[in-house]
Formats: sequence, C-alpha cells, structure tokens
Amino acid sequence: MSELYCMGCGAPIQTVEKTNPGYVQPKVLEEADPKTVVCQRCFRLRNYADVITVSLSNDDYLNVINKISQEDALIVKVVDIFDFSGSFVPAIKRLTGNKDVILVGNKMDLLPKNVKHDKILLWLKQMLASEGFSVLDSMLASAKYGQNMDDLMSLILKYKGNRNVYIVGSTNVGKSKIVNQILRRYLGHPVDVVTVSATPGTTIGLVGFPLNDGTMIYDTPGVINKHQYTHYLTRPSYKLTMPKKEIKPLVFQLDEGQTLFFGGLARLDVVSGETGDMVNVTTYFANTLNVHRTKTERADYLYETKLYSLLTPPFAESEKVPKWIFHEFKMRDNLKYDIVFSGLGFVTMRGPFNVKAYAPFVVGVYVRPAII
Ligand code: GDP
Repeated sequence: MSELYCMGCGAPIQTVEKTNPGYVQPKVLEEADPKTVVCQRCFRLRNYADVITVSLSNDDYLNVINKISQEDALIVKVVDIFDFSGSFVPAIKRLTGNKDVILVGNKMDLLPKNVKHDKILLWLKQMLASEGFSVLDSMLASAKYGQNMDDLMSLILKYKGNRNVYIVGSTNVGKSKIVNQILRRYLGHPVDVVTVSATPGTTIGLVGFPLNDGTMIYDTPGVINKHQYTHYLTRPSYKLTMPKKEIKPLVFQLDEGQTLFFGGLARLDVVSGETGDMVNVTTYFANTLNVHRTKTERADYLYETKLYSLLTPPFAESEKVPKWIFHEFKMRDNLKYDIVFSGLGFVTMRGPFNVKAYAPFVVGVYVRPAII
C-alpha cells in the first residue's frame, strides 16, 4: 500500500490510523482509482472546506517546525486552557527565535462564567514566560462556539504584514475548529486548498488557504503529546473525563486526613488545612466525572480494591493508566490557590494548607494563583 500517495498532500496512503496523514477508509480505497486517490483530509478540505488536523510523531513534527522556522512568518499558537501543560509543546520554542507569536487559549466556554478572563490571560503569560517565551498578543477563544473569532482574525491581520500565517499546536487543542471557523467566516465556500507537497512521500502535511492579499494561512499537523490523558484511556472513558459543557464547581468541606478521588484518575489528600479546622475545597472537573470522598487512611485500600468499579474511569486494566506519583504542596500564606491536574481539572483552596496530589507520572500537576 505504501506505493500509493495522496494526490493532494503527497502523504503515503494508509487505512489504519485515522488521525495520521494519508488516511483513507478501506472501503473507499477499494473503489478508488490509484492514480487520483486523495486522503480523507484532502477530500474533506476540497469538498466541504472542512479541516481535520492530522497528528504526527515527534520526529516528523520537528521536521514541520524546522520548515516553518526557516520562514519569516506569523505563528498562531493554540493551547487548551484546560490542559496547558498537556497542550503546550516546548518544541515550538524553536520557532520563536525571530518569529512573532499570537497565543490563543482555546475552550474558554468550559470555564465557569465567573472566571475572570484577564486573570487567565495573565496566568497563560506567566506560564509562557516561565518557558522562556514572549508573545505579541494573547487572547481567549472558544472555537466551538465561535467566541472571539473576530478578535483573532483582527489580531492576525494586524500583525501579519505580508507574511504567511501558521496555526500550530498539539492534537486536541481545537486547531481544526479554529481553522474551520476562519475558513467559514473569512474565506467563504468553496475554498481553494493548496496542499504543500514536495516529493511524494516526503510531505509534511501542511495545508494552506490563500488570503486576499496573496499570502497563505496554513494548518499544521498536531504533535501527539504523551502528557495528555487522551493517549491512555479508551474513548468512552475519555469522554467522561473531558468537560463538554461549562463546569459546575462542587464544594467540599474536608478535615485533615480526608481524601478526594477524581474518578480513578487522580487523588487529593488534605494533610493539614488552614487552621487545623475544616478546609473548603472547590473542585472544577467535567460534570460527568465522579468525585469520591474518603478517609486518607482508607484511600490506598480503596484504590487497590475499587479501581474500575467505584473509582472510574478507567473501567478496566486494559486502560493502561501509567503509575501514579504524588506531589506535595505546602502553601504558607492565606491566598487562594489552584492545584491543577493538567487535562483533567483543578481544585481551589485557600492557604495555608499542606496537600498531596496524586496523578499518573506523565500528567502535569502544579499550583497556581487561583483564577476564580
Ligand atoms: P485539533 O486536534 O487540535 O485539531 O482539535 P479539534 O479541533 O479536533 O478538537 C479536539 C476536541 O476538542 C474536539 O472534541 C472538539 O469538539 C473540542 N473542542 C475544540 N474547540 C473547542 C472549544 O472551543 N470548546 C470546547 N468545549 N471544545 C472544543
């Protein structure tokens, strides 16, 4: 099969991995003319102006980054505000040498309405600064509901000059949705899709759309980031874990020596609280994820005996959730903090407190000033 290449993007045709370049449904491939076969992504682009971002391995992704880094371009970097460390790809730093970057924090619709947007933006900028990044501008958006898409286009037009624009980010941050919003709003139907295909088989999967001024806007493949829960859970489990709607916070009053389990995916132990009394813990997770309260002294036993039954997801051993480790956070002042389980959710507590937060070792767990 590897001798067939997509007419559109030059990727080797394959029928196995939907999210990889060159995917064609087996049925479609049987009936296709080998000389004119196009992959599903190019087909949808051409016929429906509908982008599906493909994902790449780390090495292939680095090739994409290297290609872009050779050009004077405007970069639109998309992150999932609900999963910053899972969706932030440090390799992108290579792009920023002399590149201008606009940061888009996507999925703002998931945050409760009382979250202050400027606090989130400030936090995003701090996270970026700690990674040695600086950006031209940053904004929040919801590609799903089209929120702030006009602002995004204005920023792009403001900064691009006569340069091409590249939309970059890891898988699942909502890149496809953003590109589709841009296409539908600003480029109209049908779009003239230009796929960048050098030699067949060596394509890097960039697809571009001409803007009115002769420059291009490119969708780039996403890189699979191993720090995202996505890669360890089955689809039904993942669906329960990912918030779809505005998150409804839950408030718990916990004593020292009490524990919360978030499904079977993370755990928080209160070692000691504000004044030795009860601690208020507000949890922000998908409304479909069970939060289970227990005594810390029972927590290990519960995890050993009730994982897959009471503590779900995961629902079976076949969901290979990596080994857990804990992170201890001791805050001494009386400010409000969020303890973030990247890609899953966060809890808000007022200091001083001492807690232990458990999650699989691949998952980022960190503390930040509360955003609510
Ligand atoms: P890509 O891999 O970066 O191209 O991401 P997709 O555009 O395919 O989106 C990944 C998942 O996130 C899908 O389930 C989308 O429905 C969801 N998604 C994308 N944008 C938003 C958004 O603004 N809000 C919410 N709630 N979900 C979104």
